[in-house]
Amino acid sequence: MLLPHFEYRAVRSIDEALSLASEGVSSRFMAGGTDLIAQMRIRLKVDRVIDLKGIPGLDAIVDSEDGGLLIGATATIADVCRDARVRERYPALVQCASEVGAYALRNRATVVGNVCNGSPAADTAVALLCLDAVAEVVGPKGKRDIPLSEFFIGPGKTAREMDEIVTGVRLPRETAGMKAHYGRLSRRRGMDLATVAVLCAHGGSAESKYRVGLVAVAPRTLRVPEAEALLDREGKEAIDRAAIIARDTCTPISDARGSADYRRDMVHALTARGLKAVTA
Ligand SMILES: Cc1cc2nc3c(=O)[nH]c(=O)nc-3n(C[C@H](O)[C@H](O)[C@H](O)COP(=O)(O)OP(=O)(O)OC[C@H]3O[C@@H](n4cnc5c(N)ncnc54)[C@H](O)[C@@H]3O)c2cc1C
Repeated sequence: MLLPHFEYRAVRSIDEALSLASEGVSSRFMAGGTDLIAQMRIRLKVDRVIDLKGIPGLDAIVDSEDGGLLIGATATIADVCRDARVRERYPALVQCASEVGAYALRNRATVVGNVCNGSPAADTAVALLCLDAVAEVVGPKGKRDIPLSEFFIGPGKTAREMDEIVTGVRLPRETAGMKAHYGRLSRRRGMDLATVAVLCAHGGSAESKYRVGLVAVAPRTLRVPEAEALLDREGKEAIDRAAIIARDTCTPISDARGSADYRRDMVHALTARGLKAVTA
């Protein structure tokens, strides 16, 4: 389908982007455009697209003051997968990010765009959620931090206001070094959203050592705190019970990718498999 008419503005600063977004015209910020443009082709009506890619420095991946990493809003998924610090400290993010689309797409799409899109099937969102990441946001009322645990509200809905820009996501020091296993099922390899996926992680220096994150089985990306707490108390002896809790926590729908029953069963199997892998 042809794109409808819209105004395209490439900006050079956050202030310029915020000012354009405040002019009362229906606007969207754009990073890679791989979600936004696809949505505009189908149904989304937008009068102005504000392209953030030209803002100097916004694509940087930098060490943050607390010993973690800050991933800038226009850093591509390929940049993130290539970065030696991300690979060493946050393998969960690299595993999940490597599953997005295909190489050409990852070379354009961003981690921050993946999160802002608010899809329950987003692959990098579950890694950031499990790694206790925080979104750094700026808008007309100033700056604020939104923990990823509060960011996802429902399909396509996030805690970000439409006139706010996510300038980056901060990964804390405490979840560095977590071992990870991302089990993902889709209808074909590459270029298909997950039918169901489970991220399991273990380790790091945070008080809680276990993570179980679920993809495409609820209206938003989910963690399973009850399973994580059980594993923290009882260790790997509790893996089978944790997998049952994960299965009973998810609320999948049936659609063209798979039935709700299939998704529930796969959450059970992938959680058990992932937890065994990260505690081996
Ligand atoms: C063929 C194809 C295959 C795909 N496969 C997968 C897949 O396997 N897994 C997966 O998770 N996704 C997949 N996607 C979806 C998409 O590529 C990803 O979600 C991607 O990471 C989006 O990043 P982007 O930079 O292109 O975002 P954009 O399209 O630029 O933006 C996405 C949304 O976020 C908003 N936004 C972007 N950046 C900011 C910002 N800094 N501040 C505020 N709002 C912002 C935009 O307004 C828009 O609403 C696929 C898409 C296509 C077209």
